[in-house]
Amino acid sequence: MVATMGSELLNAPVARRGLVLILSSPSGAGKTTLTRALAQRPEWGLELSVSVTTRARRPSEIDGQHYRFIDRDAFEHLRERDDLLEWAEVHGNYYGTPRSPVEKALAAGRDMIFDIDYQGTRQVRGKLRDDVVTVFILPPSMAELRRRLERRAEDSAETIERRLLNARTEIERWSEYDYVLVNDDLDRSFKTLESILAAEHLRRERQVGLSGFVGRLLAEGGASPA
Ligand code: 5GP
Repeated sequence: MVATMGSELLNAPVARRGLVLILSSPSGAGKTTLTRALAQRPEWGLELSVSVTTRARRPSEIDGQHYRFIDRDAFEHLRERDDLLEWAEVHGNYYGTPRSPVEKALAAGRDMIFDIDYQGTRQVRGKLRDDVVTVFILPPSMAELRRRLERRAEDSAETIERRLLNARTEIERWSEYDYVLVNDDLDRSFKTLESILAAEHLRRERQVGLSGFVGRLLAEGGASPA
């Protein structure tokens, strides 16, 4: 899992392990917008994991881009074949992360970004361990969460109520995450996430090329002893 590409993108001379950045939050806290915005920035080289789900497609969603929309039989088939890195039932629907794109990306040393819930986060953490960085995003208030869900206007009133109820259970999982941020301003949250990513890239244990780099540095001629 050594990233040369990610390092070059950030102009770093040291080879680095790839990582998986997981963003979780209750529905409506802004996680999907933030995930997609980060994935669209070429300088971060983040590959977005496209989940499979049995949920109905929203009008604004594109199959294969936001999710792969499949039926329950197809989902169970994937699960039985162990083709999912993790899976969970959320709001009465199944969601899962296809295993092979993740394995390919990490083997090539690339970073990935996931937008998944706390159940999936636990499973991925258990499997990928130190290559996982987790961020929990909180809404500034429950009233604002409701406003955001209603403004989206893509879900029925019943779905919105169910999501608000589930939000409480999800928010209670905040303490399982490495970082927790309150999203009261999208631009600021985006910059915070960029800072987290930049700092995580510099973790000593992730920079597997450090000893080689330092060795070459010290072997360089020209530096006169003090
Ligand atoms: P939504 O239906 O609003 O797109 O997503 C509902 C919830 O399912 C969100 O919390 C989202 O993060 C989560 N989710 C989306 N894809 C996956 C996945 O592949 N696995 C898991 N465990 N959760 C997911």
